[in-house]
Order: sequence, then structure tokens, then C-alpha cells
Amino acid sequence: MSDLTELSLRIICSALRSGEISSRALTQAYLERIERLDPKLHVFLALAPERALEQADQADRRLIEWRRNPSASLPLLTGVPMAIKDVLAVSGFPCTCGSRILEGFMPPYNATVVDRLLASGVIILGKTNTDEFAMGSSTENSAYGPTHNPWNIQHVPGGSSGGSAAATAAHFTPVALGTDTGGSVRQPASFCGVTGIKPTYGRVSRYGLIAYGSSLDVVGVFGHSAEDVAQVFTLMAGHDPLDATTLDQPVPEIRLEAQGASESQPLLGLKVGVPREYFIQGIQPEVEERVRRAIQTLEMLGAEVLPVSLPHTEYALPVYYLIAPAEASANLARFDGIRYGPREQSDRMWDVFRRTRGRRFGPEVKRRIMLGTYALSAGYFDAYYGQAQKVRTLIRRDFEQAFTQVDVVAAPVAPTTAFRLGEHTDDPLAMYLEDVFTLPANLAGVPGLAFPVGFDAQGLPVGMQLMGVHFREDVLFRIAHAYQQATEWHTRSPNL
Ligand code: GLN
Repeated sequence: MSDLTELSLRIICSALRSGEISSRALTQAYLERIERLDPKLHVFLALAPERALEQADQADRRLIEWRRNPSASLPLLTGVPMAIKDVLAVSGFPCTCGSRILEGFMPPYNATVVDRLLASGVIILGKTNTDEFAMGSSTENSAYGPTHNPWNIQHVPGGSSGGSAAATAAHFTPVALGTDTGGSVRQPASFCGVTGIKPTYGRVSRYGLIAYGSSLDVVGVFGHSAEDVAQVFTLMAGHDPLDATTLDQPVPEIRLEAQGASESQPLLGLKVGVPREYFIQGIQPEVEERVRRAIQTLEMLGAEVLPVSLPHTEYALPVYYLIAPAEASANLARFDGIRYGPREQSDRMWDVFRRTRGRRFGPEVKRRIMLGTYALSAGYFDAYYGQAQKVRTLIRRDFEQAFTQVDVVAAPVAPTTAFRLGEHTDDPLAMYLEDVFTLPANLAGVPGLAFPVGFDAQGLPVGMQLMGVHFREDVLFRIAHAYQQATEWHTRSPNL
């Protein structure tokens, strides 16, 4: 078998079962690649090679036993390594959220998604870099230094889940978890040329995810194809009594092999909307061209393509940058130097708070706490936060209206490909503008799936996103899968 780190999740699972490869050999191959190449990329904030290899040996023993007795049950991902964004609690690993305020903090429990994946047999390689508390679009807001894009290390991997996206693109792991509050799975997936799902709000438990914007946050998955991502998504999704916002309904099985009407037209009967508000001035021409071409491919595969309008799209940016900071300002109040993480000393209680927060939060986090506190303050609440909530409803209705005409909408993920490190660090507004196309799905709570559809002239990946009806991730996966069966952008790898 060729390089083990090149295999898709599906092949890995079947090769582990057949005994063609061992979990130890696979895990070792990833660890060696990480050791050799991560100094260039800075993907991992924590790595546990010995623990991973021990778990791989356990998985191998389980696989051997199962081969002797194949009628026994074997969890689907037994022996599969993966990486987790450092905003999710994994016991035994520090959870820093990319912040000095949680430096060395060891969570005493696992996030529900982590528990579910461990029960499915995965091995956790390590925790990946993120913008501090997931606030950012480039990982440059990490207190531990930025991650680099595997396609060109002068460029950002996107963010905030840039570590997990880069880890997947660099073949440090077959799949990884990220989170998406305003685009943090889809935009880095697009910048790094991998596939990433932002599930419907309420589809996946947030228990054990350190909260940023609680009405927007959702845990998502990165992988090399819609098929691989769908597999992990299905295993971690579903109702959790520990998160009251999760939907109390079973997650439907996603069958990607069984495609519609005929082989050459698997998308027959599906309607794909093209929202005119997502093809605006200022978008990088190559991004528009590649996305339009991908939409033509969907048409060739049988989909009916029609124009739609999401008229309130332009308000998503100001609405998001009021609601997310408002929620963040409340969520981050708990980091006071007393309850979690390190403490800056003083004899006076207020000085402990002031010093710990003053010295250990980074500038972007402080900016958002101030913005959010202001938007929520007496006298301004109605004008800012209250107004933003009303416009949020209009944005959600835009999608509901569009979905009376089409099954999904297709659009660029970001207006540009991966920008250069440092390009936007002095201009927060320019950084926020990178999020224009991803924020609406979070405000509306609808699912979004990003996948690669080509490259720009510099060789950087271009991504497209499909957004769909609440809880219909299956439709997004089906369309992306059909596209990936017909094209090979998702099989390209960076030369590291
Ligand atoms: N870039 C957006 C922000 O900075 C979204 C981040 C996210 O989805 N976590 O808030």
C-alpha cells in the first residue's frame, strides 16, 4: 500500500478491518509526518504521540478479535486517528482556546462530540490551533502564533478553525473537528482546499465546547471528501440531554452510494439556487469564475439551476458583529482568574480579575468584549442588540423564502482565496469583511457545506458552499458527493 497518510477515511476503515493495515502503522505514519512537517505549519497546540500509539495498539487488539468473530459489533471508526480544535474539551489534553487566559487549563471531562467519537473508536492525535476563543478568520489571533496554509506557507489557512483545516489539507489526519460561529469551518476549508460541514444549529451538541456566540456556535467536521465528512458528522450528531438546544430526533442515515435517477444525472430533480447577492463587486474574479463553473457542473449532473435572491444579505455583517460580540461578552465573563486557568496575583479581588483579564486576553477578544458590552448596555440595547435580532429574523426569512423555490443555494465561501499572513492584521474591518458570505448561514441556523472547486492563478484553492434547509445536511452531502464523483479537485494535495 502507498503512503498511508494519503488514504481516504473510507479506505482506512476497510483496510483496518481487513487487516491490510494496522492502526499502529497508520497512527505512526501520521505522527511521523506531523513531526517532520508541523514545524513549517504550526497546526498543533498539543500532541500526544505516546497516548495515541497506546490507543492504536488497543484498537489493533480489538480488530484482531473482531476478525476472529466478525459477527461481534465493532465501532465504525475503530483505530482511526483524528485531530480536535482546541476549543473542545478533551480530558487529558489542555484546552487553551488559543488564549493565555486558559494556558495549561486541563478540562476534567470530554465534550459530548468527543465522547461520541471515542465511543466510535477514534484515536485523538492532538489539539489544533485556533484564533483566540474562535474570534478571527485567519488563526493570526491565536496567542500561540499563527498556523500557515499548506498550499503556501506565506498565506493564512483561514480561521478560526485554521489548525484543523490545515491539518487535514497537510494529511496530518484524515479528518478533524472544528467549530463554526460565523464561518470558521467553511472558510478555512475553502482556504485549505478541503471539505467542511457546518451543521444546522441544534444538530450537534455544544456541551464541552467553550462558548463564543451561543446562539450561533456549532461543531463541524473537516475531511477530504463529502463522503468522509458525512461519516463523522453522522456519528457525532443527534440529541444530547446536556445541550437543550439539540433537536430531539434521530439523525437520518446518509447513503451516498445510492444516487438518484441515473448514473450520469445523479442530481436530477434537485433545484439549486444562485443568490445574486453573493456575486458582488469586490469578489476576486477567479473565485466567481470557479464557483460559476462548479454550478454548471451541478447542472450537467442533472440539477436545475435558477437565480434566487436573499435580499438582506448585506446586513449579515453588522448584525453578526453585534450579536456575536454581545454573546461573547457574556460568555467570557467567567474567565476571571478564579475558576479556570492561571491567576495573576494580588491581595485585592478586583485586581485579580483586572490583571488576569487585562494581561491574558488578546486585543481582538478585548475589542469584542467592549463591543458586546456596549451593544448590551442600558440605553443602547434597543438600538443595537435589539435591532440586530430583528434583522436576524429577516435574514432567516430570506432563506425560508428561497427554500420555497429551491432545495439548496450555491455560493462562494469567501470573496477571496487565502490572503497573506499579516495582510489584514492591522485592519479589523478588512478581516471581518472576509466573512460576508459565511455569516448568513449562522444567523439563519441553516447548514452549510464547503468543498474545493478549483484553484486561483497563484495555486491557492477556491471553495464553494451549499446552504440548505434546516436539518437537511443529507441533501448537501449528496450534491457535493455527486460533484466529487465527477471531478477531482478534492483529491489534490499540497506539495509540502
Ligand atoms: N470570523 C468570524 C469571527 O471572527 C467567525 C469565527 C467563527 O466562526 N468562530 O467571529
